Amino acid sequence: MKSQFLAHYTTMGPPSKVAVIGAGVAGLSAARELLREGLHVVVFEKSDQLGGTWKYDPRTDSDLLSIDPNREIVHSSMYLSLRTNLPRQIMGFLDYPFPDRDNGDRRTFPGHEEVFCFLNKFAEDFGLHQFIRFNTEVLRVERVEEKNDKWVVECRTLGSDSVSREVFQAVVICSGHFTEPRFATLPGIEKWPGYQIHSHNYRVPEQFRDQVVVLIGYGASAFDISRDIARVAKEVHMATRNPDVTVMKLGNYNNIWQHTMVKYVSEDGSVAFEDGSSVYADVIFYCTGYKYHFPFLETNGIVTIEDNRVGPLYKHVFPPALAPGISFIGIPEKDIIFQTTELQTKWVARVLSGKVLLPTEKEMMAYVEEYYKQMEKSGLPKHNTHYLHFKELGYGNWLAAEVGLPPIEEWREEMYLECIKSLTEMKDEYRDKWDDAHWNSIAKSTPFPQNG
Ligand code: FAD
Repeated sequence: MKSQFLAHYTTMGPPSKVAVIGAGVAGLSAARELLREGLHVVVFEKSDQLGGTWKYDPRTDSDLLSIDPNREIVHSSMYLSLRTNLPRQIMGFLDYPFPDRDNGDRRTFPGHEEVFCFLNKFAEDFGLHQFIRFNTEVLRVERVEEKNDKWVVECRTLGSDSVSREVFQAVVICSGHFTEPRFATLPGIEKWPGYQIHSHNYRVPEQFRDQVVVLIGYGASAFDISRDIARVAKEVHMATRNPDVTVMKLGNYNNIWQHTMVKYVSEDGSVAFEDGSSVYADVIFYCTGYKYHFPFLETNGIVTIEDNRVGPLYKHVFPPALAPGISFIGIPEKDIIFQTTELQTKWVARVLSGKVLLPTEKEMMAYVEEYYKQMEKSGLPKHNTHYLHFKELGYGNWLAAEVGLPPIEEWREEMYLECIKSLTEMKDEYRDKWDDAHWNSIAKSTPFPQNG
């Protein structure tokens, strides 16, 4: 039964003012969709530019492990050589595609600069700049008097000591989740004498010249950064928990080895792997991912983060007890991010304008509990809660249907899965060996409708 918010909007009308936190992919898409629904939007952005992660910043956190809570934090984790891990055909929005290769960067998998330009053009074409308050950091979001349609947003503008407060009927959280590092625990690390860094603080390989680097991780960043560093480092030893890994020297390189996980590290600088081998290393490099982190959000324990599960969230977006006042965009991982983000924002905007109704709180909770039960049954750990490609390939189509859009063309998912396969198999140069002719014949994109 989809009724709880219809009754609310019949008496109160849809929310007049909506706060969006962040002006990255998620925040820009949210702003566009909320404006399309005729809502009053304020986007808070703590930096002086839009684009979020895609704005390359040569600075790093003041603590290269990003552990010190008082460190100076740099938001973006982009490194200079980064190219997208998905082809440009699936790096845009469904109704606002990424430019083809005739413009700018001619590669099918462009560099980060082109994605940044794309987002700026998107903001310009939809007139979004005027709704963004740059240099304004949200410090606190809290419900007023237990009402889901009254949220106080406290923020501070750069250079000012004063904190200002404003009340909104809804807050859409688009603050990103690739800034707060996650780590592997290594026995003996307290006494290990070498240099440690997390990929959040990696920009260029030069500092690793002639060094022996142990790099922990097996995701897209580990794949790219190991190759980037190997250009100057003496040796790169990749360590992973992946049980299927073959312990070996990589064929295409004379200085990259693949190992199982680090077993322990010692005071003499050595690093021992579970496969029985060991090396004396100068650097331990963590490509171990990121944690969800919303330091500004106060929900009195209604929304928690446990082992990287943000919950409870109905369809990774709405906490049932706080819906529709609070929503999260961009939580899903292992997914076609731009497309999913766009569909989530369309859904949230329609829910907030009253055009689309949510189930009751009880129904949404039941859904979440069943989802957790299914995960447990399949043996999936909590920290995989928001990984879509393991179990929710239909998620995008569910969102599309919810806002009255047709199903997403199948080639998009085929293309995505092909990239995941290349990454999982660690296929070097998959970006440059991509079969453009084949994919171009399949990916005949018909313009996706803007509205259902
Ligand atoms: P972000 O881009 O992180 O934007 C969040 C914004 O919120 C930032 O501008 C930040 O300043 C602002 N903000 C945060 N907190 C506050 C606050 N308290 N007050 C005010 N403003 C705040 N995706 C792909 O599709 N393809 C790729 O190839 C790809 N490669 C990636 C490579 C790396 C190294 C990383 C880290 C990510 C990559 N991604 C990739 C994922 C990428 O994060 C998403 O594409 C996308 O940028 C997520 O957008 P977002 O808006 O959710 O978050």
